Amino acid sequence: MSETHFETTSREMMAFIEQSPTCYHAVRHFQALLDAAGFQPLREHEPWKLAPGGRYYTVRNGSSIIAFSLPAAPYQGFLIAAAHSDSPCFKIKEKSSLETAGQYVRLNVEPYGGMLMFPWFDRPLSVAGRVTAMTGQGIETRLVNMDRDLVLIPSLAIHMNRSANQNASLNPQKDLLPLYSMAGAVPLRELIAGAAGVRPDAILSHDLFVCCRMPGTVWGANREFIASPRLDDLQCAWAAMTALLQAENSTHIPLCAVFDNEEVGSGTKQGAGSTFLEDVMKRISDVTGHSREEYQIQIARSFMLSADNAHALHPNYPEKADDANRPFLNGGVVLKYSANQKYTTDSVSAALFLAICRKAGVPVQIFANRSGIPGGSTLGNISSSHVSLNTADIGLAQLAMHSPFETAGVKDTLYLVRALTAFFNSRLTCLGDGSYRLE
Ligand SMILES: [Zn+2]
Repeated sequence: MSETHFETTSREMMAFIEQSPTCYHAVRHFQALLDAAGFQPLREHEPWKLAPGGRYYTVRNGSSIIAFSLPAAPYQGFLIAAAHSDSPCFKIKEKSSLETAGQYVRLNVEPYGGMLMFPWFDRPLSVAGRVTAMTGQGIETRLVNMDRDLVLIPSLAIHMNRSANQNASLNPQKDLLPLYSMAGAVPLRELIAGAAGVRPDAILSHDLFVCCRMPGTVWGANREFIASPRLDDLQCAWAAMTALLQAENSTHIPLCAVFDNEEVGSGTKQGAGSTFLEDVMKRISDVTGHSREEYQIQIARSFMLSADNAHALHPNYPEKADDANRPFLNGGVVLKYSANQKYTTDSVSAALFLAICRKAGVPVQIFANRSGIPGGSTLGNISSSHVSLNTADIGLAQLAMHSPFETAGVKDTLYLVRALTAFFNSRLTCLGDGSYRLE
C-alpha cells in the first residue's frame, strides 16, 4: 500500500462526503455507485425476484440503504457491515424565518444529534435536504442541495462577552440561529422551491438541514491527516460500500447496511433499531426458498461488523483516553470494547475480526473508554435487539467527533476498505460453541 494509494483513497472518500451534505444525498450517491456496478434496485413495496449470483440494493425513507450480493451457489449465512448515514447538524424548523429589529432574517433551527456547537460559528454554511411537494405527479419528494455559501452563524465579539473563553454556555435557540439575509430578501422557501423545481406554495413539508460545505483536505507536515465534515460516519459508510462493490463470496451473502438516525438513538422506521435489516434478511431468505428454520440457521452462521468512528487519543488531552487501550490516527482499524456491552465486541467476535485483519495485513488497534468517562454508544447493540448476530464493533480513529469539521488519519480509510473487503470475501464456517473455521 503506497503513500499515494492511501491519499487517493481518502480523497475519493472526501469527494463523496462533499457531494453528500445530508443522509439523503449520501444514500442517493450510494445508489448511483451501485447502479454503475450493476446492482439492481429492489423496492420494499413491490415483490422481489432474486437470482443466484445477482446483486441488489433497497432503500428505506431515502436515508437508509442495504446492498447485497447473492452467491451463485446455495449460501450459509450473511456477512454484514453496518454504518450510519446521518451526522449531527441543525435541522430547519417548519416555520423557518425569524426577523431581528426589522433588519435581519435568521433561520429558526434546532440541533439534530449530540453536536459540538462552538465550531459551527463563523464558517460559511449551506442548506440541503428534501422537500415533499404537490406536483403534476401527485405528492412527490425531491432532494435539494443549495451548494453555495448561504448562511453563517456569527459569534458575539469578545468585547461584548468578556468571559467567552472561560465559560462557553450556548443556548441553541439564542446563540446558534444562522443569519440568512437582510429583511426583504427572497424567502428560503422560494429559494428551495426554485432548487427543487416546484412552486413555493406546492411545498407541503421539508426535511432541510444546515450543513457544513467546507471541502475535505489533506494536511500535516507529511500530509498525514485529513479533515472533512461528516467523517463520523460517512468515512466508514463509504469504506463499507466500496468494499461491498468488490466483494465476492461463494458461501455467504456479503451485505452492507447504512442506517439513518444513529445520532438520535436509531429508533425510527429506518434506523438500526427498526426492522429494516431483519426485514431484508428474512425476505432474502424467503424469496430464495428457505424455511423459517433454515433462516434461523443462516442467522446463527452470520457475522456482523458495526463500523462507526472511534475517539483517537487527543494530543492536548491524553488524560481523557484509557492508559493502554487508546488508538491513534493512522494506526489502523479500531476494535472497540466495553464491559457494559455498549459495544458488541466479545472475545469470540474480536478474534474473528483480528484473524481476518491479520490475514489481510491490516493493522488493528484497540479502544476502550477510560473508566469513569462514559463514551457514546453505536448501532451494533441496537441492531442486535432485532437480529441477534455475532457482532464486533469497529471504526476509524478520529478527533473532534461531532464537530462540523472533523480530523482523521490519511491512511485509515484504505485500511478499513482492505479489512472489510477481506471480511466480505472470507469463508467463515460456524462450528458451534464459539469455534469457527476461517478460509
Ligand atoms: Zn457515529
